[in-house]
Amino acid sequence: MEKLIIIKYGELSTKKDNINFFLKTLKQNISNSLSDIKNDITYDFGRMFVLVEESDLENTVDRLKNVFGIWQIIVGYKDTNLDIDAIKENILDLVKNKEFKTFKVVTKRSDKNYPIKSMDVSRIVGSYILKNISDVRVDVHNPEFLVEIEIRKGEVLYYFNGEAGLGGYPVGTLGKGLLMLSGGIDSPVAGYLAIKRGVKIEAIYFESPPHTSEAAKDKVIKLARVLVKYNTTVKLHVINFTHIQETILRNIPYEYLITIMRRMMYRISAIIAHNNKCNILINGESIGQVASQTLTSMRVINEVVKMPVIRPVACFDKLEIIDLAKRIGTYEISTLPYEDCCTIFVPDHPVINPSSIKASEYEELIPYKELIREAIKGHEVIYVGIDEDKEYEDIL
Ligand code: ATP
Ligand code: MG
Repeated sequence: MEKLIIIKYGELSTKKDNINFFLKTLKQNISNSLSDIKNDITYDFGRMFVLVEESDLENTVDRLKNVFGIWQIIVGYKDTNLDIDAIKENILDLVKNKEFKTFKVVTKRSDKNYPIKSMDVSRIVGSYILKNISDVRVDVHNPEFLVEIEIRKGEVLYYFNGEAGLGGYPVGTLGKGLLMLSGGIDSPVAGYLAIKRGVKIEAIYFESPPHTSEAAKDKVIKLARVLVKYNTTVKLHVINFTHIQETILRNIPYEYLITIMRRMMYRISAIIAHNNKCNILINGESIGQVASQTLTSMRVINEVVKMPVIRPVACFDKLEIIDLAKRIGTYEISTLPYEDCCTIFVPDHPVINPSSIKASEYEELIPYKELIREAIKGHEVIYVGIDEDKEYEDIL
């Protein structure tokens, strides 16, 4: 009998034609997250199995809890002896030292040629447990302890109470998107939710030195590093936005500052996305949160790009976003007190119902195409990854 980790897929199993691609990607993502642990991963359409040394089990389960595309993570056992007497002996051996008062046995038989029906396997094993362990009883509705048996072709699996995985789709199965990542609370959460749906993300950050500090940029890198846990690496594009912002500030009517500034951010993001094979933009806009996020503002800002803009937290309340930020570990970083390039130029009364005609007219007051070209030319790329710190370890 072999002790191993069993992975259940959940929503993935509804994929029909391209399930193989999804499973191959999941295997690769798991393998990446276990790069420093000796492992062997195998799979079929029903389950994935991860074999590691006993001493690495706990650590491996923890890592798997950060991999999207997994519904359940279970430490279980695999045996090739399908004899019913062996099955009941093995199970008794495994459960006799566990603490429980009520239990239930559930059997699944994917090999329909196995001579004993699932219900009968459960009954035989259940009675054997009752006979050999005192003070326990069967509770089919709300058992404290669940014994699961899966009879497959040439092998049987045993396992008890599994742990929940993150769900979603394996990262990368849906292609790439570009996340507009600020130092705020919303955008990292938006990124996390896009990753959950299988989108591999790159990120773009607009900085305005000297109005924004190195510390503000470090904060964004720290946020990207949290997302690395789910996304393996984050290619972070840093755009120097100072010249554009200062030009806007000098030439555009005050109440349209934010509208025009955001239209510039969208244009630059769409170009960077296109150049890096990202199909969508992702951001942390939430309906009604600030003047630039009224529906009219969203329309007027959005109309400068053709690329779809996904706003995963558009319909979340701020408190819901904060909750999720705390759970994924970005909240404490997001609330560090550094200025962001949007917050330093906020006018007292920004327009909440901008007109697209006015926005276009105002933009003609500045050489914006040239400014955009200049900003893109000078853009910096930072690869934020798991092994970042290790990169120079052998030199230093
Ligand atoms: P907060 O959590 O304080 O709302 P925020 O990051 O959501 O912070 P907003 O002003 O609401 O800030 O901006 C809306 C969205 O625009 C952000 O979620 C982010 O996706 C994008 N954005 C804003 N500023 C920047 C920036 N400097 N660089 C990249 N993206 C930005
Ligand atoms: Mg916001």
